[in-house]
Amino acid sequence: MTVRLVIFGRQGAGKGTQAVNIVNTYGVAHISTGDMLRAAVKAETPMGLKAKAVMRAGNLVGDDIINGIVAERLQEDDATGPGFVLDGYPRTINQAEALLDFLGDNHLDAVIDLDVPLEEVTARMKSRGRADDTDDGIARRLDLYEQETRPVLDFFKEKGLLVTVDGLGTEEEVSSRLIAAINEHL
Ligand code: ADP
Repeated sequence: MTVRLVIFGRQGAGKGTQAVNIVNTYGVAHISTGDMLRAAVKAETPMGLKAKAVMRAGNLVGDDIINGIVAERLQEDDATGPGFVLDGYPRTINQAEALLDFLGDNHLDAVIDLDVPLEEVTARMKSRGRADDTDDGIARRLDLYEQETRPVLDFFKEKGLLVTVDGLGTEEEVSSRLIAAINEHL
């Protein structure tokens, strides 16, 4: 069985942690655009050098760059075989359309929205201390989430793919809720 998922949620909602729980449950590939970009920054690749300042300011890396990285990653064996969970992508309508375009007949099974209130995600990010988790960086990213990413949820809702999961509680509580919701949708 191939399982194709997208995990959505505000910055700090726990997407990365829950994506790992999904990987452990279904054996799919974890495709995190944030992790891929941070690896490129660390390795100082040409793309990483370009992305560094954009990320530090909390802005979005250009759609063409991100769409290219994801299209390539989706062709690797682990993603075409067991499937994948996309974490941090798509976050603009352009990216959502590009994704459906690369997938063609390989339809997504579900798009999960891990729902955590604004005050809670702000507090979580302030305590984690990543390079882009400055007050300005956090505010900018949350703002872009509302402007650019919220419409992507509506896009998937219209396609009947959206599954909303309450992201408050312990990691284990959220994980069991999430897996139950996915199983119901598969
Ligand atoms: P967060 O969810 O806290 O923003 P991520 O690790 O998902 O953390 O992303 C970190 C940064 O990487 C983003 O602020 C953005 O600059 C860049 N980035 C990640 N994914 C994308 C994407 N799909 N499109 C554009 N930029 C992205």
